[in-house]
Amino acid sequence: MIPIRLNWQLLTDGFEPVEFKNSNGSKVTIAEPGSARTDPILYEAIHLEDPVVLHFINCETDMEFIAFLARFGTLEETEISKSDEIEGDIEYTLGSFQKPRSSGYRRPAGIGSNSVPVILTVLRDRALSLKALINATRVARHIDAKTKVRDLNELMDSAEVIVHPCFVHSEGTMRFVLKADTLWDFMVMEVAAIYEAGAVATSCEHCRTIFLTGPLTGRRSHAKYCSDRCRVAAMRARNSAKEG
Ligand SMILES: [Zn+2]
Repeated sequence: MIPIRLNWQLLTDGFEPVEFKNSNGSKVTIAEPGSARTDPILYEAIHLEDPVVLHFINCETDMEFIAFLARFGTLEETEISKSDEIEGDIEYTLGSFQKPRSSGYRRPAGIGSNSVPVILTVLRDRALSLKALINATRVARHIDAKTKVRDLNELMDSAEVIVHPCFVHSEGTMRFVLKADTLWDFMVMEVAAIYEAGAVATSCEHCRTIFLTGPLTGRRSHAKYCSDRCRVAAMRARNSAKEG
């Protein structure tokens, strides 16, 4: 697998959920940054032991998505607005891979800033789309290669992934990598790499978290638990059930 890289940034002071009211009374929950301060971060996928996309699709609650944003960054824009900077209503579309993705906010004409809010509903919608693709690895081996290629190319087209091939040097050696443009692009590339490797999604028998098994994942293909912690917890639960 060709390594996938992303130079990205984290918002130093994290996010909190804020309810934004549109003029028609409808409410939109956005993730509001604590400040505009950022820290650089480098992501690299050379194996599939702990892909970022798995953290994303395992989010369920608003607070889990907020924690994801704080830990991994926003999907698209690096400059994001606070609710008191937003003028006009927030509009968004769901069920689309097309840009913009971390937000569907249409900025009123005349406001020149680059910033967009992160709308949690939109973030969840993106996560569900990727989750469906990752869950589909469970049946992938029953699908013929021609159909798989067509479906994956449709994904790559509609996701409008941008990567730049380039050489990087680290510790005296050189490597060829694909640099992703955004965290979204990076995660779509991870999904592609999951399919390329033939890894398969499964859910932990103890905590239901989705994790990967098989090639490049560091887990054997019949693993039942996402972690040693869950394996031990499940064993304890079985033992105490026996004793009780
Ligand atoms: Zn688990």
